[in-house]
Amino acid sequence: MKIIMLGAPGAGKGTQAKMIAEKYDIPHVSTGDIFRANIKNGTDLGKEAKSYMDKGQLVPDELTVRILLDRVAKDDCKNGYVLDGFPRTIPQAEVLDAELTKLGDKVDFAIDVDVPDENIIRRMGGRRACVTCGATYHIEHVPPKKEGICDKCGSELILRDDDKPETVKNRLDVYHKQTQPLIEYYNKKNILHTVDGTVDMKDVFDSIIKVLEG
Ligand code: ADP
Ligand code: AMP
Repeated sequence: MKIIMLGAPGAGKGTQAKMIAEKYDIPHVSTGDIFRANIKNGTDLGKEAKSYMDKGQLVPDELTVRILLDRVAKDDCKNGYVLDGFPRTIPQAEVLDAELTKLGDKVDFAIDVDVPDENIIRRMGGRRACVTCGATYHIEHVPPKKEGICDKCGSELILRDDDKPETVKNRLDVYHKQTQPLIEYYNKKNILHTVDGTVDMKDVFDSIIKVLEG
């Protein structure tokens, strides 16, 4: 099963992708997580990606496509995966489709987690991410047991640099211009499913299960 999560930054793609990955025992592949791991490890890729991420811009397609294709070529992706944050542009989607077609394969579901911009701005300010394991929390909706500390690994929780209000505004503009057209792209391929992302995350997940299990 190959699943793509669509939606604005902060819509809950990562939250839902992790739940899907666990339920169906497939890898959760997040290009944002791969870039952040590279930034943390001080790699050249990380340095290049950071210069775009800090401004709320997209990392260039060429670089992003390369790291994504490397990741999905790994053995653990053989039985499927859930992509979170990729594709974010039409050219990225086209490359993914072309690569899958070569393998006689295709994307099965594109799930759009729909949340209006007003909710997004509130959500991003409250998001906290673990510096070590990448687990995400929300100060109101999903608080950790101990303030500022990750429940899973005990490391520090931080507000991502790109979740600061001025950058969030920019990321939303970029989303509307460059990523939202993917909704129509997948609609035309008859694999688009839209779920209401404003409700409790368990209810969002229930809607997604209904889509995946028909
Ligand atoms: P994305 O991966 O789309 O950027 P996240 O999954 O990281 O978004 O979610 C953004 C923030 O909103 C996080 O702090 C997360 O805990 C919180 N969140 C996710 N889903 C919901 C929901 N259904 N209701 C309220 N808050 C949510
Ligand atoms: P995310 O964690 O998915 O919110 O991604 C954080 C940031 O990483 C984005 O704002 C972009 O700068 C960059 N990024 C992640 N995925 C992509 C992608 N598919 N294309 C371009 N840039 C990306």
